[in-house]
Amino acid sequence: MTFFEQFAKVCNTIEHISSSLEITTNVANYLKEVSDEELPIVTRFIMGHVFPVWSNKELGIGPNLLYSAISKTSSLPVKRIQGLVKETGDVGLALEKAIVSGKTHLKFFSEDEQLSIKEVYSRFENISELNGKGSQEAKIKNLQYLFSLAKPTEIVYLSRLSIEELRIGVGEGLVRNAIAEAFNVPSDLVERGILLTNDPGLVALKAKQEGRQGLSELGVMIKRPLRMMLAQIGPGINETIKEMGLVAVEWKYDGARVQIHKNENEITIYSRKLEDVTSSLPDLQESIKSNVSAKSVILDGEAVAMGKNNRPMAFQEILRRFRRKYDISTTAEQIPLYLNLFDILYLNGESLIDIPLARRREKLEEICDESIVAKQTITDDPAVIEMIYKEALSAGHEGVMLKNPDSFYSPGKRGKNWLKMKPIMETLDLVVIGGEWGEGRRTKFIGSYLLACRDPNTEKFLPIGRVGTGISDEQLEDLTKLFKEMIILENGIHADFEPKIVFEVAFDEIQKSPNYESGYALRFPRLVNVRSDKSIEDSDTIERIEQLYIGQKGR
Ligand code: AMP
Repeated sequence: MTFFEQFAKVCNTIEHISSSLEITTNVANYLKEVSDEELPIVTRFIMGHVFPVWSNKELGIGPNLLYSAISKTSSLPVKRIQGLVKETGDVGLALEKAIVSGKTHLKFFSEDEQLSIKEVYSRFENISELNGKGSQEAKIKNLQYLFSLAKPTEIVYLSRLSIEELRIGVGEGLVRNAIAEAFNVPSDLVERGILLTNDPGLVALKAKQEGRQGLSELGVMIKRPLRMMLAQIGPGINETIKEMGLVAVEWKYDGARVQIHKNENEITIYSRKLEDVTSSLPDLQESIKSNVSAKSVILDGEAVAMGKNNRPMAFQEILRRFRRKYDISTTAEQIPLYLNLFDILYLNGESLIDIPLARRREKLEEICDESIVAKQTITDDPAVIEMIYKEALSAGHEGVMLKNPDSFYSPGKRGKNWLKMKPIMETLDLVVIGGEWGEGRRTKFIGSYLLACRDPNTEKFLPIGRVGTGISDEQLEDLTKLFKEMIILENGIHADFEPKIVFEVAFDEIQKSPNYESGYALRFPRLVNVRSDKSIEDSDTIERIEQLYIGQKGR
């Protein structure tokens, strides 16, 4: 059994190191130290995650709830705690200060009562199971208990972990290398394992217990969603035919991605973020039960909401379905969803990701009723592709996907085997890291949002501009409600948010700019969609911004 104090010490050391190689070694040494039982937990903890992304457990602790727990533990008023957060600019340090300077601190830090990793995890599990009336109070009580046992350094990382914002610069790439170093296995096998199971904790344990052999035997598993294969922007019809020869052409449906796992009668549906959304989508469960003949299967596709005029409804409407916890059947009637399945990744105990798309397609057609399968045409005729493209657009969809019929399914990869063709200009998916309260009519609302792109090397978010246009009054109200819960720091009209939400933003041009840390700024940015189906790891990187910048002027 190891103590949470050790975890906090490792985090503290890492936070003061800038070389990623050195950080990797520190993480690797720590992973070697912990027991088998603790390994999956600390592998997630060190990345700032409490539960595996695919599990339907959610911690649900925002800054406000955390401040209330600290207020109870320290007997300081919430306002004073918020003041400390503002002064220090860091939730962890502020809360450490609050508790240490609070009235009740004398009874803490008892030597014989030490927080273990397992204790912290099981309290978090308790918290995740609480919902409904009285749940906020119960969550606060659990947190209070943890904080009352935590020593000063532990408080820093415990508080950051409870809002899943560890901020020590350890992301998936680094953990991958650390697992490889700790257990002496190739890092590409570790990466493969993570893409397949979406569970670095499980991969770490496999590497420790079974080494290289165990890792290479890791395969596609039911109820462990795989990262979705992604598309990149195509170079146009003729170029694509030149590259691929025969092309598999499908409509690019205007809907939301789903990955469906069926095991006998048990259906589990994952969103693009690989969250379990099964319970809000009973109609899709029924559709699978009546239209899919296989015993156990993993399917990939797009769920589309069809409006009265037989055209796809707005993306936001679909997401209303995905997030629904109550009135599910009424909402299902208002926003009916239909499946357009375009891939099959696993069938009756066998992984299919390493066979060509054309053969996967045959299997998909064999086991699914055609009403739920996306239409596909194999052709090398540009006129045929052009025609399908026009049909898709006139039916209200986004364009077409051009796929290489010989290609394997590459989990989590954006490659040349899936190319998208759409008429509208590319948009960027950026993370909202801050905002400003409005003026005049908009004083009650957060009217402008600070956007950032991702630097995959440092796991930092680099600001690139602000967006305030393209937001309706109704949306402004909803967004204000949403982001109010995520405020970490507030200074006058400025607020810093936990980086959780992705905005899809259109713009006229990318410019070089010394005003933002990314070195770029957007000309005329406007909000296109709140992409609650995307996680911050799906947001666009600084490399993509650089490529678009170079591409737009042919520089
Ligand atoms: P984008 O989000 O613009 O990168 O485009 C890729 C997305 O298009 C996928 O994640 C799917 O949600 C969606 N999509 C719609 N139709 C298809 C299709 N036929 N094949 C693959 N993806 C599709």
